[in-house]
Amino acid sequence: MAETIQLASRTGEVKIKPDQDMSLFTTFRIGGPAEFMARVTDRAQVEAALEWVEKMDLPVTSIGGGSNLLVDDSGISGLVLAVRASGKAAEAMIEVEDDMHQVRVWVPAQMPISRLGHVSAERGWVGLVWCAGLPGVVGGATVNNAGAHGGEMIDHLDSVDVLRLPDRSFERWPAARLAASYRYTVLKYAPRPRDVVVLGATFVLPKGDPAELERQAREFSEWRKQAQPTGACAGSVFTNPEGTYAGYLIDQAGLKGRQVGGVKISELHGNFLVNTGKATAADVREMIQMIQDEVYRQFEIRLVPEIEQVGGR
Ligand SMILES: Cc1cc2nc3c(=O)[nH]c(=O)nc-3n(C[C@H](O)[C@H](O)[C@H](O)COP(=O)(O)OP(=O)(O)OC[C@H]3O[C@@H](n4cnc5c(N)ncnc54)[C@H](O)[C@@H]3O)c2cc1C
Repeated sequence: MAETIQLASRTGEVKIKPDQDMSLFTTFRIGGPAEFMARVTDRAQVEAALEWVEKMDLPVTSIGGGSNLLVDDSGISGLVLAVRASGKAAEAMIEVEDDMHQVRVWVPAQMPISRLGHVSAERGWVGLVWCAGLPGVVGGATVNNAGAHGGEMIDHLDSVDVLRLPDRSFERWPAARLAASYRYTVLKYAPRPRDVVVLGATFVLPKGDPAELERQAREFSEWRKQAQPTGACAGSVFTNPEGTYAGYLIDQAGLKGRQVGGVKISELHGNFLVNTGKATAADVREMIQMIQDEVYRQFEIRLVPEIEQVGGR
């Protein structure tokens, strides 16, 4: 087996590890090996990894928390760049410009999104409290235009900082460039391999009452514990069709509890597929097809996957 490569960066060593099991980097706990994997916690480390990739002429797949991904059983070619850090380390990198009635906040891509929800509440910033309890990090949530409880990333997003491949040039994109809508941005649907790594996002947030915001953050976190399954999953598998809910249609189609191989439709929430232990990406794909066919047969509605399929070699 090839050995770990160690790269120097201004903020510490970056380890490029060969043959890393992607099931350890996704909340679905599914996926074959990444040819190479680097976990990076700041811009200097992203740059060091991208410099190596350019020399090696390999494709890059950037991931955050891996909470919206179905990684192929054959794994991912090239380098998987996991842009993630602990909440504490990421919080220390937040930059704030305080105005009278609002704040301009720069948040690193590697910051856990749930932590951002709680931090924003504690500091009395309105507009991100819905993030409390959400898996994943800011980079992935920005790419996905994640949302919940009536809020979504684009609502207060001012700009997104990115590095472009192959030359690692820095660009600050105004939020409009993402062309964001419900669980959509141009970045999420760009063909792979992609030439953009998200480094951070700037939000402009009105000020509010921290006590009230913290109450909401607790309520949202608690709601997730009650309404969503706790097992290995990737959140909602399908987007909600216009005027209805995918979970409701799956429930009405009588599919809750159905199992294909190691993957099962949650009894608690019809739009969640749970890995019962040994599920493969092939099981999930077969299940998705079965649900789409059955919901279409009964309601003439074609469900569209929200989770993203990555890899295959
Ligand atoms: C239990 C559960 C509940 C969930 N509930 C919700 C919900 O209520 N609302 C919702 O919107 N989502 C929900 N999700 C899905 C998921 O949590 C969100 O979409 C989340 O924001 C994805 O973040 P991530 O960091 O895990 O992204 P990943 O899944 O790692 O990646 C998502 C996309 O972003 C890209 N990406 C990630 N980081 C970078 C980067 N630094 N640069 C460039 N590209 C990057 C990836 O290539 C991929 O295209 C849920 C998931 C789970 C497991």
